[in-house]
Amino acid sequence: MPMSNHRDVNENPCNMCMPMGGILAFKGIEGCMVMLHGSQGCATYMRRHMAEHFNEPIDVASSSLNEKGTIYGGEKNLKQGLDNLITGYQPGVIGVLTTCLAETIGEDIERIAKEYRAERELKDLAIITVSSPGYGGTHFEGYWATLQGIVSQLARETVKHQRINVIVPHLSPADLREIKRIMQLLGVEYTLLPDFSETLDRPYQRPYQRMPQGGTKIADIKDMPGAKATIQMGITVADNISPGKYLESKFGVPLYNLPIPMGVENTDRFINLLVELTGNPVPDELLKERGRLLDCMIDSHKHNAQGRSVIFGEPENVYAVVKTCLENGIKPVVVGTGSKNQEFVNLLKELLQISPEPCLITTDSDFTILRQNSVARQANIAIGHSDGRYLTEREGIPLVRHGFPIHDRTGGQRLLSVGYLGTTMFLDRVTNTLLENKYKHYRQLIYNKFYQGESKQTSNPKESCGEVHEVHLFKH
Ligand code: SF4
Repeated sequence: MPMSNHRDVNENPCNMCMPMGGILAFKGIEGCMVMLHGSQGCATYMRRHMAEHFNEPIDVASSSLNEKGTIYGGEKNLKQGLDNLITGYQPGVIGVLTTCLAETIGEDIERIAKEYRAERELKDLAIITVSSPGYGGTHFEGYWATLQGIVSQLARETVKHQRINVIVPHLSPADLREIKRIMQLLGVEYTLLPDFSETLDRPYQRPYQRMPQGGTKIADIKDMPGAKATIQMGITVADNISPGKYLESKFGVPLYNLPIPMGVENTDRFINLLVELTGNPVPDELLKERGRLLDCMIDSHKHNAQGRSVIFGEPENVYAVVKTCLENGIKPVVVGTGSKNQEFVNLLKELLQISPEPCLITTDSDFTILRQNSVARQANIAIGHSDGRYLTEREGIPLVRHGFPIHDRTGGQRLLSVGYLGTTMFLDRVTNTLLENKYKHYRQLIYNKFYQGESKQTSNPKESCGEVHEVHLFKH
């Protein structure tokens, strides 16, 4: 139900802009170099965010549109930029993304890229173009639109084979390595798209190489239409930006849309599907990891039952975290994403039916509304990226860093949260944060209660922006 005192302003939004997601997706393709068609500042902002999160050098080229290019068109800048990029990097494939400026002046990058390839006689070098105005969506939509662009511009009719396409949302490189390990243990032949498990988390090596090793091979992407099935971890992804949907409707590849394998039930779903598709049994190693996760849940449930969480970030990740919290007795009281995503709202409403607490779901959200409502609903733990640190600094709600970007801590690229093993590690992080907060505050609370007669004051949520959905579902 929309709140009445609507604000037409977004303060400190809980997302990044569309081309940022596009860069992330392209970074998971082997030999890929990205060109942003727009002003230099866009590339600088995105490189800086990514470099701080992944602790890696992040190269992103820019066509450096200036006043002249803005008025007369930026075709010359883009072509010259592509010449320099090819000379400097010798890429295997180039991804071109637009920005606000390029889209506003109406640049047709598809035509320019086509002409450029013909003029330079680049028969073997693919240039994948994706329209990604900063105002066209969040980095979540940019990420998926780019994956859809990669598949639709590279995939072609091919002979059938036994591999399974596994299309993943924006997870950490450590998560991607875990998904690959699970599939290797199950003896699955797969094509993982994208695969930035190495490119955005490289082992130290000398001499330094400008183009990192790893990434999904172009030949494998071309062969995706011949796969036995596609597993896409993207239940909140709209059909028009879904690469799995494209492969299904254009080439008839059966699509299984699953949530991120985080928590017992969602990891079971992923593993059971792999067993069903391959006929291979679940190895002991995974069964033991599942047993350890159940043990961890039993050990920590008494602490987690006190958790009242505010969860924010990209829709797919938020859904997985909400589900994991509910499995462990942590009550989500505020849930938000910067994306405008009705499917996210519908799925969460269904999921939160089992919650003993009413929960506020916000889309197109910012940190003002998240902060106000977290206080009003007495949240005692936040789970999301670093931009939510103000919840801690201003309201004393501790933040478990999860998702992207994590730029005020080190190791964002190594955070493991998927599979039985990753969920166990995630739960430990959450439980320990709740415990630390409890030990930090309970003496003060007891003192206030018994000696000063005070109780914690909570403020009312004031104005809100974006779409807000109140969910009061559980009735005693
Ligand atoms: S919002 Fe637009 S101008 Fe700002 S960084 Fe993103 S693409 Fe560039």
